[in-house]
Amino acid sequence: MVSIQIVLALSNIMALTDVIPSDRPLRVAVLTGAGISAESGVNTFRGQDGLWNGHRIEDVATPEGWIIDSEKVWAFYQERRRQLKDVEPNSGHLALSELEKRMEAGCFTLITQNVDDLHERGGTENLIHMHGELRLVRCEVCEHKFEAMDSKHLENDEFISCPECGHAKVRPEIVWFGEMPFKMTELQRAVIDCDLFLVIGTSGNVYPAAGLLGQALSSGSYCVGFNLEPPLNVDLFHEFHQGLAGELLPLFVQELIDIMM
Ligand SMILES: [Zn+2]
Repeated sequence: MVSIQIVLALSNIMALTDVIPSDRPLRVAVLTGAGISAESGVNTFRGQDGLWNGHRIEDVATPEGWIIDSEKVWAFYQERRRQLKDVEPNSGHLALSELEKRMEAGCFTLITQNVDDLHERGGTENLIHMHGELRLVRCEVCEHKFEAMDSKHLENDEFISCPECGHAKVRPEIVWFGEMPFKMTELQRAVIDCDLFLVIGTSGNVYPAAGLLGQALSSGSYCVGFNLEPPLNVDLFHEFHQGLAGELLPLFVQELIDIMM
């Protein structure tokens, strides 16, 4: 099922030839958001009704919510964590890891707003989870961070204690509303240094995505957007491809690989 948007997008790809440097390898940065996870069936917060699977964001995704009712917040994330085994990377995730494999070492950075593990399971290696990871938990007392995905961690909604200091309940390693995203300096550097910036499955008009797009543009990067709906700032992109990431990205990546060869 190839939509008209893909055909139009392919004709635009010719402009990509201008972004390949003649004297060094191409550098690519990618920002992904909820859209690419939603295509794999991940239950995501997309903001339309301010609810996440029936929960108010203030209740389950803020530091205040954790203080007020940590049992409710923990149960919410335990459900998300258990659901990871029920979803698989889609062809959009796989296309991005294929692109990374074709590039010089150190020239590809994938920044994701998603907290699932679909990019790493799809094979992406240089990956920044700016909003945290469902697989991880963190002790608020000693800051010890660890993966907690064994069956003993997931079988119920009991709190997990810290193996380092014994604190009775670790928190999800998730950036909640009002908290600073992880690795901002590192990911901004990747965006500023890139020749080509791909923004996938995110509206691009909400901070921090909008800020990163602005930084990429002002540093001269060629910016390409992919989303089901055009964002308000669609005119800022050099190219915008409307549709499913799982349909658009394999075609786009193949075109880019052909150009790089
Ligand atoms: Zn601890």
